[in-house]
Parts: sequence; structure tokens; C-alpha cells
Amino acid sequence: VSPELERKLVDKYPKLFTDFGGSPSRSLIAFGFECGDGWFDLLDTLCTQLLALEPVDEGEGIQPLRAVQVKEKYGTLRFYVGHASDEAFALINFAEALSARICETCGNRGRTRGTGWLKTLCDSCAEKEGYVDTAMGTL
Ligand SMILES: [Zn+2]
Repeated sequence: VSPELERKLVDKYPKLFTDFGGSPSRSLIAFGFECGDGWFDLLDTLCTQLLALEPVDEGEGIQPLRAVQVKEKYGTLRFYVGHASDEAFALINFAEALSARICETCGNRGRTRGTGWLKTLCDSCAEKEGYVDTAMGTL
């Protein structure tokens, strides 16, 4: 994600991304959001939904929700958190699955393509980036 969009997410959800810009030895979220801008809305929506479910403030007996790493892997989103409820993990699973249908570059409808190095792209971004259409997850 570009620095401007990254900043938006961190400013909007400071507690969820409390280790952003910190030491990578403490949390890999220090590296920021290692994916394309096309998934910004997906990330923003996921964060809003997670915050509605999970505590983010420290407190007696509370394990607040913290994002520990956000990245692209095998063409889809990976959103890693520390302690979280089953409901929170279900939301994350849903967002990760949906990322296989959203162009990582522009946010248009896409699908996962490529051989070896997988990426989820729409037709026009795939053409621009020279990705082979392997018709994975076609609908
Ligand atoms: Zn695209």
C-alpha cells in the first residue's frame, strides 16, 4: 500500500496498528502494509468490522486486538493478528478469501493469475503487468 493510504489506515486505527513504524523484532507490522492499493477498501472495511468485535484498549484481563502483519502471499491477502476471537478470525478469513476476487493494483474485479508468482489482478492490470491468465478461480 502506498505511504498515503498506509497513513490513513494507521491514523484511523492507531491502536490496531500500534506497532506500525516500530521495531521489526517486536512486530512485523513495522514493515507496514505489504500489498497493493487495490485492497485498501477491503482492509479499511475489515478493520472497522474487527474493531466492532474486539477490544483494542489495554485493561485488566483484556488482550487487546493487534495486527502483527499485513501482506500479500500467493496472490491473496494475509492479515495476521495476535489474540482474537473465533468471530474475528472468521471476518479475517472472509476478507482474505475476497481478496482473490479484487485486483490488488486498482481494486476492480479481478482473479488470481500467474504461474509461480501469483497475483490477483483485473484484466487490464494483468495485461499491463504481463501476467499470464491461468483462469484460477474463474467465475
Ligand atoms: Zn486492476
